[in-house]
Amino acid sequence: MSNQEFKRALVYANSAFDLLKRSGIPPYPQFYELLYTYATGVNPGLNSRINTIFRNGDSPTQSSAEALYEEFLKSDVRDRMTEVSHRMHARIDAVHDAIDGAMTTANAYSGSLQSASGDLSRNISAAAMKALSERLLAETRIMQDTNRSLEDKLQASRDDIAALQRDLDDVRRESMLDPLTKISNRKTFDDGLDSAIAEAGSGKNPFCLMLLDIDHFKSFNDTYGHQTGDQVLRLVAMTLKSSIRSEDLAARYGGEEFVAILRQTEIVDANNVAESIRKAIEVKELLKRSTNERLGRITASFGIAAFRPSDTAASLIERADRCLYAAKHAGRNRVTSEHQLVNDILPSKKRGTTAA
Ligand code: GH3
Ligand code: MG
Ligand code: MG
Repeated sequence: MSNQEFKRALVYANSAFDLLKRSGIPPYPQFYELLYTYATGVNPGLNSRINTIFRNGDSPTQSSAEALYEEFLKSDVRDRMTEVSHRMHARIDAVHDAIDGAMTTANAYSGSLQSASGDLSRNISAAAMKALSERLLAETRIMQDTNRSLEDKLQASRDDIAALQRDLDDVRRESMLDPLTKISNRKTFDDGLDSAIAEAGSGKNPFCLMLLDIDHFKSFNDTYGHQTGDQVLRLVAMTLKSSIRSEDLAARYGGEEFVAILRQTEIVDANNVAESIRKAIEVKELLKRSTNERLGRITASFGIAAFRPSDTAASLIERADRCLYAAKHAGRNRVTSEHQLVNDILPSKKRGTTAA
């Protein structure tokens, strides 16, 4: 995390605490997450709802915060994970019960066999022999029934556990994706970058980092609404994903920013990839699905940095970010690679505040 990112996160954290205190909402983790998210502005739908509350002269209450958390932040993945885990526990309990039941029956049966063998070692009458064999027969049937029932229960468990395994795999896959765009999320990117850096350590696996930020997206949202904005995010994500190879990694970095790790790629080639994505986005004419209304076009700016052996994840991201800032500064809708920057010196002003 760069110093600048740290400071920004601290501002969000303080703002979230202030809002919690002012609204008298208990500072539980979920409410802190809610108001932290509000402070970052990355979830426009959530912000517009909270802003409406403020505009009406009210503050969010604990119950409205609960409802907003439920609607905007509660993770399906977390719920499904909990559900799968409950089912897994229930299934394991059922298997234990079935085995305990079978063991009780088996112990009783073994006791009967032992006492029968004691009886048989003595001389017993034909009538007693008949009674004994009938008793053994009956108990053998019970044992057979118990075994059959155990087999059935174990088979059902095996099927259920296989289904649970598939569910778990689905949940795990989903937890790696951004829910809106269905490409990798920030966590997957962070992990992917760590492994790319570990592999590149030897110098045999050069790779580049590409940052993409949609231009003037705030005003697009303001003009056409957040739902249409969301469609655009999906479109950009798809364009990015389909323009890179399977060994590369494309992810939503946050808000309207995307990132890609381009493996085994020198900076000139990364530049070409970014340029082709830039063009692919620029030429797309946007139509509102529901009304076929023409929404014009959008553009994006790109920053590219090549891994250096001395890099950490943070230093590499920071260089790509500075290139992105340079691309914005130079007029947007362009790709800037670090080798194009003069002496690596750039103003450190916040990108978002620069005029087009
Ligand atoms: P710039 O060209 O400098 O990048 O300008 P910008 O307007 O794109 O940048 P700014 O950072 O000012 O605004 C980013 C906007 O992205 C703000 C927010 O409305 C929008 N945004 C972020 N996340 C989402 C989202 O999940 N859905 C939608 N619809 N909009 C989002
Ligand atoms: Mg941005
Ligand atoms: Mg932007």
